[in-house]
Amino acid sequence: MQKLFSHILQQDSFSKSDLVQMLSAKGNEQTLLFDKAAQIRTHYVGNKVYFRGLIELSNHCRKNCFYCGIRKGNNTTHRYVLNDEAVIEAARFAYTNRFGSIVLQAGELCSIRQTQRVERLLKQIKALSNGELGVTLSLGEQSKDTYQRWFDAGAHRYLLRIESSNLDLYRKIHPNNSLHAFERRLEALKDLQNVGYQVGTGVMIGLPFQTLDDLADDLRFIQSMDIDMVGMGPYIEHKDTPLYQYKDHLMSIEERYWLALRMVATLRIITKDINIAAVTALQAINPEGRNWAIRVGANVIMPNITPGIYRNIYKLYENKPTISQNDEDNTQTLINQIKTTGNEVALGEWGDSPHFKNKKT
Ligand code: SAH
Ligand code: SF4
Repeated sequence: MQKLFSHILQQDSFSKSDLVQMLSAKGNEQTLLFDKAAQIRTHYVGNKVYFRGLIELSNHCRKNCFYCGIRKGNNTTHRYVLNDEAVIEAARFAYTNRFGSIVLQAGELCSIRQTQRVERLLKQIKALSNGELGVTLSLGEQSKDTYQRWFDAGAHRYLLRIESSNLDLYRKIHPNNSLHAFERRLEALKDLQNVGYQVGTGVMIGLPFQTLDDLADDLRFIQSMDIDMVGMGPYIEHKDTPLYQYKDHLMSIEERYWLALRMVATLRIITKDINIAAVTALQAINPEGRNWAIRVGANVIMPNITPGIYRNIYKLYENKPTISQNDEDNTQTLINQIKTTGNEVALGEWGDSPHFKNKKT
């Protein structure tokens, strides 16, 4: 059995049952999987880790995804919008501390006002940083025209998770209406690629009703869509959401955590040159979570630089870490922690996905 597993890791292509076996690895097999992922990562993308300072613009959202704490229907949460000065100040912090890039994230809002606001912010951020700060957006499904306007204003990467590539599962975790249609999400991913963004997607791991087969299919989906970057992490239940009713049917939080790490490692092995984020939801479970993801193949980290109190009310899931990273001491601590994984934070670099560059050449 052991020999068989090490044979799987030698292969260049992987069947679905190989992937399921990799995702089920325990003990020594899991160690082999993690070691292989670390080797591939060093070979294809090197040992650099890139920072993206995460700025959570607003927790208003027009959608009602069944898993998410800031869904429209949750009237127990306070709603906020960062003002322009606060966003610019956070971007300036990232630039001064040589973060290389930032991510602007928010609930899904679609209006001319929102389009224009983001456009204005992008131009200001580009101006304050002499065009040096890279900007990734994570603002949900928008029209192709809006994606184009934001691209023209300076954004060059976009994150839009598919959440689950299994249509049935997608329908179970979203309301059944056109605002939450799977087909629309797919179309949005394709629009982003056509506009010219480096496109990131991802899934939640350990959702109710989800199987290892589904996760293996998610990995194949990411590969088949020619995705440049991935952020995926454990599903963490939130008590003010409809999915909370299934909390007793979930894998333990510990199991979800290790499965998420095996997803990262397996993804690194099969895709080789994409950017993979060590996501915050891992850190919500274990303070060492993001470092572990870096050890097993991730090469991007998104320190939260949302100012002050807002960080605590942008609550997608329970136990979201509220530690400030918009302070120089904490940034230095994070840089030192990453060194302990045998990797190095590359300050002042965009750290574009090598996959995106490789497919263009
Ligand atoms: N509104 C945008 C961006 C904000 S949500 C969008 O939906 O794309 C960002 C991500 O948070 C989502 O893609 C989802 O995968 C994740 N998320 C939401 N609720 C979560 C939960 N309960 N556990 C783990 N991740 C969650
Ligand atoms: Fe809104 Fe995104 Fe949460 Fe869905 S996942 S409710 S779109 S913030």
